[in-house]
Amino acid sequence: MKERVKTTISRPADAAMGKTGTWRDFRPVLDSSKCIKCLKCWISCPEGCIRRAEDDSVSVDYDYCKGCGVCANECPTQALTMKREGSGE
Ligand code: SF4
Ligand code: SF4
Repeated sequence: MKERVKTTISRPADAAMGKTGTWRDFRPVLDSSKCIKCLKCWISCPEGCIRRAEDDSVSVDYDYCKGCGVCANECPTQALTMKREGSGE
């Protein structure tokens, strides 16, 4: 019998309505004290998962974030860092 390989590819049965929180391996964690509101993360997220408030503060929509790390890569102050899911951070 062929061994099943686990991947991070979304399937309808596993990710109801495209929500990704059940299979993402890493999540971006925001340290607001380091954020300079440059909005690079908001501009660069390929999934539109960075929320921008009226005062230009940002937050992550974890329902749809895929954990790709683009936002953390673009952040000039390391306000966003990628943490492993379940690491408690
Ligand atoms: S990890 Fe990827 S999908 Fe999630 S908020 Fe950052 S850029 Fe968007
Ligand atoms: S890229 Fe970093 S510093 Fe800029 S708004 Fe996003 S979290 Fe804040």
